[in-house]
Amino acid sequence: NVLADQIAAGEVIERPASIVKELVENSLDAASQRIDIIVENAGLDSIRVIDDGQGIAADEIELAFKRHATSKIANRRDLFRVRTMGFRGEALPSIASVADVKMTTAQAGTTAGVMIHLRGGETLAKRPASARQGTDVKVTELFFNTPARLKYLKSPHTELARITDIVNRLALANPHVAFSLTHNGKELFRTAGNGKLQQVVAAIYGVQVGRKMLPFIGEDPDFKVDGLVSLPELTRSSRQYITITINHRYVRNFELTKAIINGYRSKLMVGRYPIAVLNIQLDPVLVDVNVHPAKREVRLSKEPQLAKLIADVINRRISQENL
Ligand code: ADP
Ligand code: MG
Repeated sequence: NVLADQIAAGEVIERPASIVKELVENSLDAASQRIDIIVENAGLDSIRVIDDGQGIAADEIELAFKRHATSKIANRRDLFRVRTMGFRGEALPSIASVADVKMTTAQAGTTAGVMIHLRGGETLAKRPASARQGTDVKVTELFFNTPARLKYLKSPHTELARITDIVNRLALANPHVAFSLTHNGKELFRTAGNGKLQQVVAAIYGVQVGRKMLPFIGEDPDFKVDGLVSLPELTRSSRQYITITINHRYVRNFELTKAIINGYRSKLMVGRYPIAVLNIQLDPVLVDVNVHPAKREVRLSKEPQLAKLIADVINRRISQENL
């Protein structure tokens, strides 16, 4: 099956941040309203993700750790049609094959949950556990059995930055979900989960929306866009503060990032970039099949049209403010 092969090729658990991403995306797929991420030593010692989502039935938990054809989507384009982010059915087995994993999970309305303990792909224990609805996964001893991969890890400082970055993006893409990220016992940020993007931006970037962060909205026959952009005087020295989501999925796209910057019509100082969150709603048929989910790069048909819409909407919004 070519699709499976293509998908599998992109699937690599290469660092703590990839584990955080996979676990949090599973929590989002399970319709969680609250997701707490707790890491020790930049995830090198432990990564724990606790959610209040649908949970896994006791008799299905072993299946969840088996490499399988996921039922979440039928093909790649479906990725943008459905809400779910997982589609490869192999994050959990991959993680469990290179680490020690303990998962406690329970579905709503059950009298008992289940705890499973795996290490290096082997199930060491499985027993009844707390019935608290949701899933609690703890990953320790990452790459204990693949020392070569350990060597590729960067300093804890860099690994933590990557974790923070991915959690920030997922929180910005999902303002209805309350996120918290705690490192070595210190809470790095917490979002309210009240659906307000400005609250998430304030929690993550410490920027109050109002005078310097402006909401914008616009549409054409094919696309709807909305979000927040900073005024030209509120900038950063990297593009990293620009987040783009398509149908609530965090993506990367060079042309659309450029379109945001073009919206400023040269009002930005050289080497300075805005803080921006851009949400795009579109019909999934416009997402090119040439999409690489692991890297989050997407190509779109009608990309020039969308880029023009984005630049125009942002330009209009910023010009209004400078009247
Ligand atoms: P995928 O997400 O691609 O289906 P994963 O290996 O990430 O594959 O997860 C396997 C399965 O385990 C999921 O399809 C889902 O049914 C279940 N699962 C994993 N994490 C959670 C979670 N936090 N809450 C509920 N179910 C989960
Ligand atoms: Mg998954």
